[in-house]
Amino acid sequence: MTTTNLLEFDLEGLAAFCERLGEKRFRATQLFRWIHQRGASDFGQMTDLAKSLREKLATTARIEALPVATQQESTDGTIKWLFDVGDGNAVEAVFIPEDDRGTLCVSSQAGCAVGCRFCSTGHQGFSRNLTTGEITAQLWFAEHFLRKHLQRNERVISNVVMMGMGEPLQNYSALVPALRTMLDDNAYGLSRRRVTVSTSGVVPMIDRLGADCPVALAVSLHAPNDPLRDDLVPLNRKYPIAELLEACKRYLAHAPRDFITFEYCMLDGVNDQPEHAKQLLDLVRASGVSCKFNLIPFNPFPASGLLRSPQPRVLAFAKVLSEAGIVTTVRKTRGDDIDAACGQLAGDVKDRTRAAERMAERRASGRTIVLHPVTATAPQEH
Ligand code: SF4
Repeated sequence: MTTTNLLEFDLEGLAAFCERLGEKRFRATQLFRWIHQRGASDFGQMTDLAKSLREKLATTARIEALPVATQQESTDGTIKWLFDVGDGNAVEAVFIPEDDRGTLCVSSQAGCAVGCRFCSTGHQGFSRNLTTGEITAQLWFAEHFLRKHLQRNERVISNVVMMGMGEPLQNYSALVPALRTMLDDNAYGLSRRRVTVSTSGVVPMIDRLGADCPVALAVSLHAPNDPLRDDLVPLNRKYPIAELLEACKRYLAHAPRDFITFEYCMLDGVNDQPEHAKQLLDLVRASGVSCKFNLIPFNPFPASGLLRSPQPRVLAFAKVLSEAGIVTTVRKTRGDDIDAACGQLAGDVKDRTRAAERMAERRASGRTIVLHPVTATAPQEH
């Protein structure tokens, strides 16, 4: 009999599921806490639930993480997981520990249809949207794995960034319940400002997100004018920069004390010249959008034909913006030894396919999946 994976639900969805089982809605809150706060996957553990409910759940529901194909840990503590999502597809999540926070970078799609030039995921094409459960499962697994791994009783992941594989706003209906679970005090209880959706600029969905769930917004800008952005981020042909900036302004009306983070991947000789910095400055000043910039060192991959900007040029670019009063950071590269840095999250398609084939072989042979590293180069996410 087919069972329902309860990771597919936010609290409201779980309450509706409980009602369908003939149970009171408040049971859902207890169940939700067991699943997300305590990491339970066995209904037998949930001793404060009525036995009759546990029996119903045992025949109708399950709590199931994604199979882990590989896990790699960097010397700097960064951990990257490759999850099998079936049919030869795999997605990645990365945990990045820092002194004052633990950030999980989460994927929303297997592949991506946007096709940004500097992004290895984009070069691999689109396979499919992840379900809500597959998005939530990355956090559920990582949080509870890390508590055991790091021997911590309290929350390990304090921030989530939807910056892994895929364009989250092209998978909106699955994304929003997953975001609500991240924010829910009965689950992860993350503050709205500690959950970031990163988009390449799907304008209508920026408006919907503002109305439905105004978490922090990062926008992959990467160019200061339309001709250049049309080339780097093809979605710009549909939603040009002026429309995108207007959408950013409308978004901030839902969260007036917030700002937009503009991501800008520094590409040697392409978008990293002093005149680009000047244009960028004029652009954001004229838009009136409260913003900060995050300059990202490009992680080259052969098919892109692009190179990383030299560090002095990145710093000079940052100086132009910061001297004009715009907070500008240069992203630190983390997890280099396991290819978990920004723009490396999706993995080389051959490596991902090999990993998925290995998993399929193991499933076919009934053997357990063992964790072991693969050599992967990863996706340039927004
Ligand atoms: S940068 Fe983001 S939107 Fe662009 S192709 Fe990569 S995953 Fe898709």
